Amino acid sequence: MRTIGLIGGMSWQSSRIYYERINQLVTDRRGGAHSAQLIVNSLDFGPIARMQAEGGWKEAGAVLANAAQSLERAGADVIAIGANTMHKVAAQVMASVRLPLIHIGDTMANGLKRDGRSRPLLLGTRYTMEDPFMVDHLAKKGIAALTPDKADRDALHAIIYDELIKGVVTDRSREAVHAMIGKSGGREADSVIFGCTEIGMLFPPTEACLPGYDTLELHAEALVDFALA
Ligand code: GLU
Repeated sequence: MRTIGLIGGMSWQSSRIYYERINQLVTDRRGGAHSAQLIVNSLDFGPIARMQAEGGWKEAGAVLANAAQSLERAGADVIAIGANTMHKVAAQVMASVRLPLIHIGDTMANGLKRDGRSRPLLLGTRYTMEDPFMVDHLAKKGIAALTPDKADRDALHAIIYDELIKGVVTDRSREAVHAMIGKSGGREADSVIFGCTEIGMLFPPTEACLPGYDTLELHAEALVDFALA
């Protein structure tokens, strides 16, 4: 089995779900007492969130590049950034190590294509929805993502940073996200991407009114495919 190197802590609420899903998938596939060979480098999200808000992406990229290098030294065979937003600096991280990086956007595109979807509603942080890095990444793979309107983008960003990364899950936010997805059906979305690794804390993608894809789940599956290949 190959060793997965996960850059976590972004936020730790979703890192613990990564930890559980990666291990569970290995147990399901290998059976018996098997579990994942996994090294988690869990970062302090406080300074990273500040750098994001201040536009300090190069600086944040350097923090993640250091984390990737220490995972490489520790014996990882593959690197994963356990968040969508921080894939904005994926190229900087990739350039800092010899190891392959499994990009969450690739796993997203593969999951959609497998089911013949090409017009998803992309939900995530403001950075993921508004900076073009993720929409462009998907477009290169033939996926034309839509995003919610400005008021909904602001509301979702606040739900992620004020509640979900702190482990707060409310019915009010659950209903707000259901309503955002409901509106997008009328805008011809054929699916919805949970493009933030905390959104699945609200409800599973199977409960959405459009076919749902959780990036954390797709990413975990791709990592386990690599580890067990
Ligand atoms: N985990 C989140 C994501 O998937 C948001 C937190 C962050 O900015 O990294 O984008």
